[in-house]
Amino acid sequence: MTDNLNVCYFCGATENVDLHHCVHGKDWRKLSTQYHLLVGLCTQCHRGKDGVHGKFGQEKDLLLKSEAQLAWEARRVKRKKSTPENVRQEWIDIFQHNFVAEYNELMERKEQKENE
Ligand SMILES: [Zn+2]
Ligand SMILES: [Zn+2]
Repeated sequence: MTDNLNVCYFCGATENVDLHHCVHGKDWRKLSTQYHLLVGLCTQCHRGKDGVHGKFGQEKDLLLKSEAQLAWEARRVKRKKSTPENVRQEWIDIFQHNFVAEYNELMERKEQKENE
């Protein structure tokens, strides 16, 4: 997903940066490696309370998943392995989720809450 895995994707830190598989759990970790859906994350953004694996990190986690999906889709279209019309369904066939839609829904719910 990024060329530089030695820099934290969120905060730009360069110390203690781990490799994170954007789509993780189940058999997804392997797919993340296969499709290079990887980013570097510092300890805080990775394992901290509001890091992607943390209790309060749901939004960050989903953001990375949706960005991984968009990057994968763009890459496939660019390499002419798919078309803009078909590429989303291909992702869903592999990952069983549309993370872009899930992230947008999460953001809409958050906005509604803030406006209440
Ligand atoms: Zn960080
Ligand atoms: Zn991770």
